[in-house]
Amino acid sequence: MGVEKVVITAFGGVEEIGGNKILIDDKGYDVRVFLDFGKSFEISRRYYEFPFTRPSSIEELISVGSIPDIANLYTIACDITTASREKRKKWKNEDYSEEEPEPPVDAVFISHSHLDHYGHISLLNRKIPIYLGECAEKIVKARMETSTLNLETNYFHLSFKTFRSGDKIKIHSLEIEPVHVDHSVPGAYGFLIHSSGGTIVYTGDFRMHGHASHLTQEFKDKILDEGSPEILICEGTHVDKSTVSNENEVREKVSRIVEAYEDLIIADFNMTDFDRFRTFLRVARESKRNIVLSTRHYFVLSAMNNCKGLETPCLEKSEDILVFDPQKKRYSNWEKKILENLRQRGRVISYDEIRMKGEKFIFCTSVDSITQVKQLRPPEGSLYILSTSEPFNEEKELSFEKLLNWLEFYGLSMIHVHSSGHAGPLEIRKFLKDICPKRIIPIHTEKPMQFKRYYRKYAKDIVVLARGSLYSI
Ligand SMILES: [Zn+2]
Repeated sequence: MGVEKVVITAFGGVEEIGGNKILIDDKGYDVRVFLDFGKSFEISRRYYEFPFTRPSSIEELISVGSIPDIANLYTIACDITTASREKRKKWKNEDYSEEEPEPPVDAVFISHSHLDHYGHISLLNRKIPIYLGECAEKIVKARMETSTLNLETNYFHLSFKTFRSGDKIKIHSLEIEPVHVDHSVPGAYGFLIHSSGGTIVYTGDFRMHGHASHLTQEFKDKILDEGSPEILICEGTHVDKSTVSNENEVREKVSRIVEAYEDLIIADFNMTDFDRFRTFLRVARESKRNIVLSTRHYFVLSAMNNCKGLETPCLEKSEDILVFDPQKKRYSNWEKKILENLRQRGRVISYDEIRMKGEKFIFCTSVDSITQVKQLRPPEGSLYILSTSEPFNEEKELSFEKLLNWLEFYGLSMIHVHSSGHAGPLEIRKFLKDICPKRIIPIHTEKPMQFKRYYRKYAKDIVVLARGSLYSI
C-alpha cells in the first residue's frame, strides 16, 4: 500500500442512528473537514434526561464519548449558561471569534437541519465556517432562536455560509459539491467530495419514495456522471426493515380517519417535516377544520416560507392556520410578536376553546407533546395521530411510554400513520447497484454488519467502522 492520501474517521453515526460526525482528513491536500456535527441521541439518552439533566460542559460531553477529544475544536464560550454576567453579555453581543485558538479543521459541512446532524455545532470554535443549505440555515436559526439558551443551543457568532445544489465549494484544494436529496426536512443534501484520493460521496439522510424523489434522482445522476466513487458513505437507517409507504398514502389514510371523526384530533409530527405539515393542512382544509400550531411550530414553519424552490403556503396569509396561547407567565420576544400579530386577526385560540369545539380543529404537536397534551387536557374520545417513526422520532427524546400513559389517562386512543424520511432496504439496494462504488462505509445505522451482508455484492469492500476508528485510502 502506498502513502495514505485520505483518512476518514467516524466520530459518530456508527452502530447508531444519527450523531453523524465524519472527519475527512485529506493529507494530500493538507485539509480537514467534518461532514455533519450531530448530536448522538443514543449517548444523550444514556446520560441525560431532558429537561432535568443536561450536559454541563464540553469536557463532560467529551468524557461520555458524545464528541471527539480534539484540541482547539471547541469554542471558548463553552459555559454560556453558567458564565459571569459580563462574559455572557460579551459572548452574546460582541464577536469574540478572533480570540478563539486556531482550529484543527477547515470547515464543517451540514447535510440537513436535523439535530442528529447539526445539534453540536453550538460547541464549535467560532473560527470554523459552517456550510449548509440556504433553507437549512433558516431552520437551524429558527430552532436555536426559539430554544432556551444552553450549551447545545448557543448559536451566537457561528459563522454560517450557505450553498445551493450544484455549487462547487473549494476548501483549499479540496472541492465539495452539495447536491440536493429528498428527506423529511427541506434543504437536505448529499455531498461529492473531490479529494486527493478520488471522489468520496456522502449521502446524508435520503429517500426515494417522497414527494421530491426527483431530487434524490438528480443526486444519483450527478454521481453517475462522475463515474464510480472511490468511497460511498451511505446511510442505512432502514437496512434491516421498513414499511412500503409514501406521503400520498399518509394523506389518504389521514383523510379517511379525519372525515369519519367527529371529535378533537391531535396530530404529532416533526416540527420541520414540511411534507407532513402540508398533508395535515390539506386534510384539515378538506374537512373544514382549522390547523392549530404552537407559537414555536408557527415560527419555525414561517422561517421556511422564503426557501427557494419550496412550495410553502404563506403562514402569515393563511387565515385558517391558528396558534394557541400557551398561557405562560413569561413570553419570549419572538413569541409576543406572533401572538400580538395574530391576535388582532382572531387567529389566537385558548385551550378552553379547543376543548369546547374539538370537532373543528386539528391540534398539532411535536417535541413538547406530553407538556402540550397536559396543558390542553383533551376531552375523552379525542384521537391522537402519531405521524412520526415509533417509538422515537429523530428529534424526540421523551419517553414514548409516558406519552401513552398520558393518553390513556385522558381517555384518548392513538393511531400510527407514517411514511419514513429514510430509504428502505430495496431503495438502498437499487442505489448501490446503479452507483457501483468501490467501497462503502455504512453510517447512521444500528446494523452495519447487516449492511455488509445484505449488500455484499454491490462493492469490492464494505467497511464497518467503530466509533473513532480510521479508514485510509
Ligand atoms: Zn435526518
